[in-house]
Amino acid sequence: MTTRFVEIDKNRELEPQLVEAADVIKNGGLVAFPTETVYGLGASALDPDASKRIYLAKGRPSDNPLIIHISKSEEAEKYCFTSDLYYKLAEKFMPGPITVIMKKKDIVPSTVTGGLDTVAVRCPSDKVARELIRLSGVPIAAPSANTSGKPSPTCAQHVRDDLDGKVDVIIDGGECVIGLESTIVKICDGNVSLLRPGGISVEMLESVCGKINIDKAVREKLPDNVKPQAPGMKYRHYAPEAKVYLIVDDNSSDFENRAVKFINSKIEQNPKTGAMCCSEICRCLNGEYIKDLGSKNDKAEHAKKLFAFLREFDETDVTEIYAVTEDESGIGLAVKNRMLKASGYNIIEI
Ligand code: AMP
Ligand code: MG
Repeated sequence: MTTRFVEIDKNRELEPQLVEAADVIKNGGLVAFPTETVYGLGASALDPDASKRIYLAKGRPSDNPLIIHISKSEEAEKYCFTSDLYYKLAEKFMPGPITVIMKKKDIVPSTVTGGLDTVAVRCPSDKVARELIRLSGVPIAAPSANTSGKPSPTCAQHVRDDLDGKVDVIIDGGECVIGLESTIVKICDGNVSLLRPGGISVEMLESVCGKINIDKAVREKLPDNVKPQAPGMKYRHYAPEAKVYLIVDDNSSDFENRAVKFINSKIEQNPKTGAMCCSEICRCLNGEYIKDLGSKNDKAEHAKKLFAFLREFDETDVTEIYAVTEDESGIGLAVKNRMLKASGYNIIEI
């Protein structure tokens, strides 16, 4: 199939630039589109055949459910059994980088939910995404627009690299402002559980609904015999070809010095060693493959750069990568979670 590319000029009216793509969605086709988190690969959530095409294009296991995207938080009413808790979260964080899982209504096909009786809904804040959903007139089922297993795409070029020729349209709306997938929470019997950390932090969630439960899989690798809450948690994710070692900041006063020494010694032994850390550490490293995530205190910057760096490493011939992650506050937990997955939970002590 020939993929059409649509470059969006955000200074011009969006509707005329998006009507064709919206028609493609209406007619059961596939459209990759920008959101504030990562690029999504969208199809009509009410058309089971269309959502099957998403799984095919991505090579995604069919039991891994899709998030459905709506243009207004109230639209969730049509697709799931909402609650006061949902509206509390919606009022504070929607539109925005949060996905809420609730019991589904019959109108949502089971192909979209991977056979589950729950559905995940999200109302993105990105203007292009919202206008596309509105013009399509249907909710848009969309996982991230990457080949299954690869890092999520944070710009249209990443989508092109993975899906050119496999989808009808790729909309280029520039770089994603957050760069990590949405926070996923599940509401069940009046309780909120965090299944995937993202741009809406634990602190933000708890300011609205009190203490929340953090699923074990957010910080730890689940044992093989334990069924994950979100099917997506069981698949290999984000891993570059080189082996990734994760170094976690232990808050000791000499941590940065020790990290620098350790990584430099690794580079000395093997010049094809890569590193991905904050600027404070990077500026003391000597290697050829150093990726600077930004200042230690600027976690938002780390989030924004992480996936692009993982993709860039695959274009080099590095054989091992040392990544450093700092504290878990704010979006820090989401950054650490993605690094844990990219490393296959391979944490090393230094
Ligand atoms: P992505 O493909 O990157 O958009 O990720 C979507 C994530 O949402 C995956 O981890 C899915 O397993 C998860 N998800 C979507 N719908 C549900 C649901 N109904 N219950 C649990 N997890 C879900
Ligand atoms: Mg994904």
